[in-house]
Formats: sequence, C-alpha cells, structure tokens
Amino acid sequence: MKATYVTEPGKLEIKEIAEPQITNAYAVKIKVKAGGICGSDIHIYHGTSPVATYPRVLGHEIVGEIVEVGELVKKFKVQDRVVIDPIINCEECYQCKKNRPNLCVKLRVRGVHEDGGFREYLVTPEKNIFKIPDSVSYEEAVMIEPFTVAAQVNSRGQVEKGDYVFIMGSGPAGLCALKVAKNKGAICIVSDLVDERLENAKRLGADYVINAGKENVNEKINKYTQHIGANVVIDAVGNASSFEQAIEVVSKGGRIVVLGFTDRPSKIPQLLITKDELDICGSRLHANKFPEVIDWFNKGEITGKDFISHIYPFEKIQEAIHLVETEPMKVSKVVLTF
Ligand code: MN
Repeated sequence: MKATYVTEPGKLEIKEIAEPQITNAYAVKIKVKAGGICGSDIHIYHGTSPVATYPRVLGHEIVGEIVEVGELVKKFKVQDRVVIDPIINCEECYQCKKNRPNLCVKLRVRGVHEDGGFREYLVTPEKNIFKIPDSVSYEEAVMIEPFTVAAQVNSRGQVEKGDYVFIMGSGPAGLCALKVAKNKGAICIVSDLVDERLENAKRLGADYVINAGKENVNEKINKYTQHIGANVVIDAVGNASSFEQAIEVVSKGGRIVVLGFTDRPSKIPQLLITKDELDICGSRLHANKFPEVIDWFNKGEITGKDFISHIYPFEKIQEAIHLVETEPMKVSKVVLTF
C-alpha cells in the first residue's frame, strides 16, 4: 500500500509499505477514504511543529471504511463507515480519569506522535472510532474532527444561548468555532485583518465583523455588545497582543479561551482579572467530543460542505499543500481522497 511520509522536515515522499495487520482482538482495519489537510500537518512538514517526531505519516482528520474486525470487536462490522479520533490516551492517569484524555500524561496524537492516516490502510482500536451518519459523505465527514476542536473551544468558554462571543481571527479554527457558537445560540462578532476572510465569516453566520486593521476593535465591541463587553472571547489569532486585546474587550465575569502556541509573553495586569472575575483558559484538541459533533452532523445542524474548497487524490498531496500555502484566501479545507 502507499503512505505519505514526511521523512525529515521539508521532505515529503509517497512510499510503498506493507499493509498493517490486526494483532489485537479489539482492533479494526480501515480502508482510508478521505483525510483533511490541517495547518498542523503543514507545520509538521516544515519542521515547525513543537511536538512532532520524524519520520511521520501525516493526517489526523481521517475517515474510512472498515474492511476487517478483530475477534472481540463488538460495536463495529465490516463496511461500517467511520471517523477516527486521533487522541491516544492511557486511561489511567489523573487527567484521563477526570475525563480529560486530551491532557493525558502519555498523550499521543495520530499524525503527530504516531503515524497518521494519509495512507491506504490503518489499524486502530475500536475505542478510537465512531460511525459516520449515512447522510454524510466521506469528504464532508472529514470536518467532524476539526469540529471536535471547535466544540472543545466552546465548552471551555462555556458558550451559552444569548452570550456575546467575540472570535478573533477568521481562519479555519475561528470559523469552526463560530459555527458551533451560532449553533448554541450565541451572538457572534468576528475580527480579522482581511476583508475576504470576514466575508466568509458573515456567510457562515457572524452577526458582526470587524476589520482589526482598519477599525477600532474596542469601540466596535462596546457598540455591538450594548456596552457589556464580550462574554466570551476566543483568541484564534494567538499572539502576545491579541491576548492583551482579549482582556480589554471581555465583559465582567467573562471567559477568554486561548488557542495560540506563542511563547512570547503578554502584559496582563492581575487587577483586571481579579476585579471582574475573569476566567482565562486554554483549549487543546478535544475531550470526548465526537458523539456530540456527530449528532450535529446527523441532524444537519452543522455540515461539512461549507468548509471544503478543494478535493485532491492523495498522490497530489504536494500540489495540495502548495495550494494551501500560496492561496490561503481561496482555500478553506482541502480534502485528500484515497
Ligand atoms: Mn486539525
């Protein structure tokens, strides 16, 4: 079978390797059907991921069809259409027992610390897969995993109906978070520096948009929230100054969710956090969000097709990555088919 390897940073190769075999009675073998290219795949390709190791098969947004099941597999059968949870956790540490597998002390993420799904077949324990609703195509189902991340962001920010939610940054992460917040009944404001990206946010349901390069963000937030401030700020920009801005526009008792990976410090006075009882929290991957997200897809409350801009056969992964890098305004999710 073929697999797409990053052999070392900057070097991508399609290699012929042996098909994986089921060696565990609780495992299933999956014929990969489609996979989404994520920003983090591109970081791993270039060697700018803080966590990845090499050589590595990329891909953590993976769907496929079961072609073989281990002897003790109960919940799945051959021909089931499934999506794969990329989180591999120990189930024994404090965090796992507290229902936070994404923070497992031995956390391994498929496509990052272990080989991912950009290959023709893979074997995985049945506990890491979920059925895709019949009404959802493989290509659309690729969006289920990114939406688990957006669901996590919204749950960390305790987004509720009627909340003013300010999403900084309308790239893929910001837009998925927007969709989930709208689905929960929030009033959403999205900022970005690029008008085309803000148009996208509007198309996906943003109530207000702010061009942070041309408009005064504090004034606009004040106006759009009736002088309350944003009850939840989702910082999908993730630099030192966006975090500072989040503190300025959040409401009393508000929540700030950060997604950035910068190690540059922000200047944040304690006073503002104390007097308004702000909650500042990080959000990483997801904690058991697949069932909830699949339910949204099943009910049609969230669909993948708004996000998919290009579909390539996986042999053209170089071309697909090149497109993501050179035409970021024209691209949302690029899907590889297998
Ligand atoms: Mn991703």
